[in-house]
Amino acid sequence: MRWLALAVLLPAPQDAAEALASQWTEAVRRVNEEHAGKPGKTREPELARRLPKSAVATLDKLIALPDATAASLVEAGEACLDLDLVREFEKVRARLEKLSGEQASRLGTALSRDRYILRGIGLDRAYLDRFAEVLDAVLAAYDELFAFEEWSKVPGKKLRVRIHLEEEITRPPHFAPQFPFHSEIDFPVIDPKELKSPTSKGHFLFYGLCHELGHVIAMWGDRGREEDHHAWAHYTGVAIVEHASKGARKLDGLADIKWKSLEKERQALKDKAPSVADRDGVMSLFIALHDRVGPKAIGAAINLLDREDRRKRINKVRYYGFAELKEALLKTVKDPKGRAAVAQLIR
Ligand SMILES: [Zn+2]
Repeated sequence: MRWLALAVLLPAPQDAAEALASQWTEAVRRVNEEHAGKPGKTREPELARRLPKSAVATLDKLIALPDATAASLVEAGEACLDLDLVREFEKVRARLEKLSGEQASRLGTALSRDRYILRGIGLDRAYLDRFAEVLDAVLAAYDELFAFEEWSKVPGKKLRVRIHLEEEITRPPHFAPQFPFHSEIDFPVIDPKELKSPTSKGHFLFYGLCHELGHVIAMWGDRGREEDHHAWAHYTGVAIVEHASKGARKLDGLADIKWKSLEKERQALKDKAPSVADRDGVMSLFIALHDRVGPKAIGAAINLLDREDRRKRINKVRYYGFAELKEALLKTVKDPKGRAAVAQLIR
């Protein structure tokens, strides 16, 4: 009965694959956790180099394992994207493809750029290239208007966007704050060929992207009390749609500017006094700050608060309040007239 003893001693192939996948995932998690504890000036591409050689060998072993399971490969592939490891992700995906085309397409495709990693589910590489073109234009508009320095709740980490093909959009694009080591935007689309906005069903995907990036930069108050009455992301959203739509950016098919612009808000709220009491009051306050001290000053104030890092954080997500925004603006705005406007506007 020697064969029985062996069968008991040797792990089932499935268990071997799962064990390798979880060792790999754990190694990635440890690097991220150490970084989150003390981010310093380290940027994400350097983080991948902190993985021990033995961890990388674990991944290679899993890929080479004749009995690797789809579940273990999906887990390992997703862990690759928790660090900036797109090449490793592609190796895992190629292995998974041989096992199950369906699972491979569910794992998706990935694209990494300086400030973000895109994961496309049900979408091909050309779609991600086009999405990156749009996101680059949006980030360039954010740079020009606000110049925010940090795009992830954990300094140094890249922003993630998970773009997934759906039959219909039941929940519009949204900021997903729950991931432990990075900020992520969840972005459903219905057309795998073209990134068009508004969609045939009237969803403003382009504005939605600009709006959600506002949430990535700043949440207000705390979980129970939205101090900005949800006006901040609307303000940055329309300001960015308007700014990005000017000039010769590659925004074919993105026509949101017809419906969403700072100018439209300015007109609609021209009789509304700036305040922090309600949504229109806060919107009017942001527009007044935009017009009187400028979006760069708002960006500089947020950057200052980030550098001081005394703000409230919930699950590492940055939360701000109007009192500290005012304090920061009074430090960063140099022009006395601008400072007087800040003192008068935020009360
Ligand atoms: Zn929102």
